[in-house]
Amino acid sequence: MTAEILEAKPIVEKMRAELEAQVDAMDRAPVLVALMAGDDAGARAYAKMQAKACAEVGIEYELRELSRDLTDETLQQEIRRLSIDPVIDGIILQSPLPGGLDEPAAQGAIEPEKDVDGVHPMNLGLVAADRDALAPCTAQSAVRLIEETGVELRGAEVVVIGRSVIVGKPAALMLMDRGATVTVCRSTTRDLAFHTKRAEILVVAIGRAEMIRGEQIMPGAVVIDVGMNYVPGDDGARGRYVGDVAFDEAVEVAGAITPVPGGVGPLTVTMLLKNTVEAAKRTR
Ligand code: NAP
Repeated sequence: MTAEILEAKPIVEKMRAELEAQVDAMDRAPVLVALMAGDDAGARAYAKMQAKACAEVGIEYELRELSRDLTDETLQQEIRRLSIDPVIDGIILQSPLPGGLDEPAAQGAIEPEKDVDGVHPMNLGLVAADRDALAPCTAQSAVRLIEETGVELRGAEVVVIGRSVIVGKPAALMLMDRGATVTVCRSTTRDLAFHTKRAEILVVAIGRAEMIRGEQIMPGAVVIDVGMNYVPGDDGARGRYVGDVAFDEAVEVAGAITPVPGGVGPLTVTMLLKNTVEAAKRTR
């Protein structure tokens, strides 16, 4: 059996066309401000993607570089200042912050209605309460890719590996809200394969290159690979990105699987656009 490949591209194109039409209908373009502290290469690459995606649908995007001698206090002050600026609809704090800075405290300083990355505890709380929220973008992307397969979520056995605040936990809550029976595994899980082998839907968000092998997957399962791991090439050759799932093995067993790159990642950026448009509608 060869799995259906769940490419993000068709969903991304459809969603972006819808978002562009919604932006066109607004009195002024939504404004998204991204805050960058430090020089993390991954954060810079993500910011570039955000700028391009925003331009495509007509969202005004501004990347603000924060000073190098930032403290928790000055960072939170800046975030609070932006939070009360009526021109700004969305704020995203590029992660990771330079070492020593308190990221959860900075996230908590964002006005929840402008928290388009869905990282404020209030938005996470709303997700847990099955209420309308600006939910974390990656979790939304994983759930949307599952829904796109048409698989019945009510009563489905779902296993999520990873319980991070921005991916595993909210994805598990959102799937629970849709009627699935959800098990969340983590590094302390005693027998990971026991859980993965009985998962009709497997969401993997660990951060370890190709850790989940084909033999750990139930035949016909829907596999959502959130992982994004850089593997350097041999002898200085250019490296490549791989997921947390060994794709070549899994594709022979699963019923449907997301590729890396080209699956969860591109849709995550589109969910950021969606949240920004949503935030603009709410605050105006
Ligand atoms: P994280 O905060 O580091 O969390 C990793 C989770 O994996 C933790 O819950 C950890 O368990 C669990 N884990 C670690 N080793 C394990 C093992 N051997 N067995 C079972 N569970 C294990 O990571 P994250 O931010 O959720 O990101 C996960 C992956 O997704 C990374 O590759 C990241 O690059 C990628 N990602 C992709 C996107 C995208 O849009 N494509 C966005 C965000 C993240 P404990 O809690 O017990 O430590």
